[in-house]
Amino acid sequence: MRLANHAGRAVLVTGDDRAVDVAEASGGRFGPDPAALYDDWDAFRAWAAEAPLDRAPAHPIDEAALGPPSPRPRQVFGIGLNYRAHAAETGQEVPRIPATFTKFPSCLTGPYATVELPSGHVDWEVELVVVVGRRAHRVHEGDAWAHVAGLTVGQDLSERVVQRAAGGQFCLGKSYPGFGPTGPWLVTPDELDDPDDLHLRCSIDGEVVQDARTSDMIVPVPGLVRVLSEHVTLLPGDVVFTGTPAGVGVARDPRRYLAPGQVVESTIEGIGTMRTRLAARSEG
Ligand code: ZN
Repeated sequence: MRLANHAGRAVLVTGDDRAVDVAEASGGRFGPDPAALYDDWDAFRAWAAEAPLDRAPAHPIDEAALGPPSPRPRQVFGIGLNYRAHAAETGQEVPRIPATFTKFPSCLTGPYATVELPSGHVDWEVELVVVVGRRAHRVHEGDAWAHVAGLTVGQDLSERVVQRAAGGQFCLGKSYPGFGPTGPWLVTPDELDDPDDLHLRCSIDGEVVQDARTSDMIVPVPGLVRVLSEHVTLLPGDVVFTGTPAGVGVARDPRRYLAPGQVVESTIEGIGTMRTRLAARSEG
């Protein structure tokens, strides 16, 4: 199942750039708010599996109208240093438990958004993003995937000077408006041959800058769900940015940062591609 947020309404992507409106197809039982679906995820999955979608009207998808698949998560987690090559390029040791920070939910935006750069020190980080489908507390790894609604693509955009300005408190530098693009849609794990091994890539104006597989993660998705849920209660709709592979700008010599006018493409195999356009900071 591919679930998108189209102009604030939940839609099921049926292929060929068309989608069925969930509220319309379910006679109002589910939707239209995409956020509400996660609180009733098991019932929604059961309905979607049986729904006669071929008989429902399919509407064209307007890329510009796509929003974050989980638009109002109560919690957004970011994981740092979760790929060995990335930890090495930043010169940091792999921590004993996953390095965890938050991106405040107001930073979320859609997959084709234009994002303003607050400074000349903004960096790219393509990441696999997990959306939680069931309340999770003290979940075992073997049960972890059952608590995941689905996967999507994310960019953990990061203002590197502010990120480092308060010791290990990353949250401000990672939470400017638009610093959390996600999309283009949520893909349920059953759609993927192996949800633990997906090719992910980031390019800037066509130049590939990150190219890796999620199987290179130090703590894969089931382990992240286990560790996070050991300490925190994960809630339906919560978003987890699972860490970025090597190739970020701050680790290069000389350092590289994003510039107005550039387009960042973030792709994950089996899920899709986001296109984020960068703009100069507006005055006032
Ligand atoms: Zn990150």
